[in-house]
Amino acid sequence: MNYYAADVVFPVAGLAIKKGVVAMDEDGVVKGVFNPGEIDETLIEQFKGALIPGFINAHCHLELSHMLGVVPRRTGLPIFLSTVINERGNHEMKLEEAIEAADKLMYENGIQAVGDHVNSAVTAKIKETSPIKYHTFVEVMATTKEDVVTRIDIAKEIEFHFDYKHSSITPHAPYSCSKFLFKTLKRAISEDNIISIHNQESDEENKLFRYKEGEFLDFFEKMDVVMEDFRAQARNSIQSYLPYYTCQE
Ligand SMILES: [Zn+2]
Repeated sequence: MNYYAADVVFPVAGLAIKKGVVAMDEDGVVKGVFNPGEIDETLIEQFKGALIPGFINAHCHLELSHMLGVVPRRTGLPIFLSTVINERGNHEMKLEEAIEAADKLMYENGIQAVGDHVNSAVTAKIKETSPIKYHTFVEVMATTKEDVVTRIDIAKEIEFHFDYKHSSITPHAPYSCSKFLFKTLKRAISEDNIISIHNQESDEENKLFRYKEGEFLDFFEKMDVVMEDFRAQARNSIQSYLPYYTCQE
């Protein structure tokens, strides 16, 4: 057993322990957290600073790593989205390098598990060798009825490239998925499929759902997105789509 102490130890649960001690076996598995004095001092390796359990990055887009610094800040979500969509193709050979650098940066900063959203399989290779544990969420989006089946098929094809135990298909966002997509997807995926949806990231999203107003309408027009059948719901977005996940049919 190895013992590590630091000025402060943060256990997974409970209060921080001043001069706490972490016991770790040869495989790096934490076997216990102790108060100072509970472990023989001579066995302990001392560190300055804090010992903290691995961080979780619950929402990442690793495949957009090459866009770091490209998108201006504080422009609001619809402008952010159109910039990402329009600029994401400008990468030439830098994409893989940027993905590798981002993976490394996360690990070096203590991130040990990541929920990562994808629209392609470009991150599959790095995920196989990275020390980080990834769960890959393959996004699907479609606002028109005729696109739905094709988009789900494409998502399944992309998912095939990732570790099947740690990947799933997810609706992208309430505003980018029609009701028909939500209904069809529910039938197309297994019951234990984990989703991670971009939910109410801006006030504009609720304006769209409640009143069919706001910046999202300009965004859809600019992006040539047809909002087939979209009507004001008199409810916010989560109230509109959640029934597709909680009601038994
Ligand atoms: Zn996202």
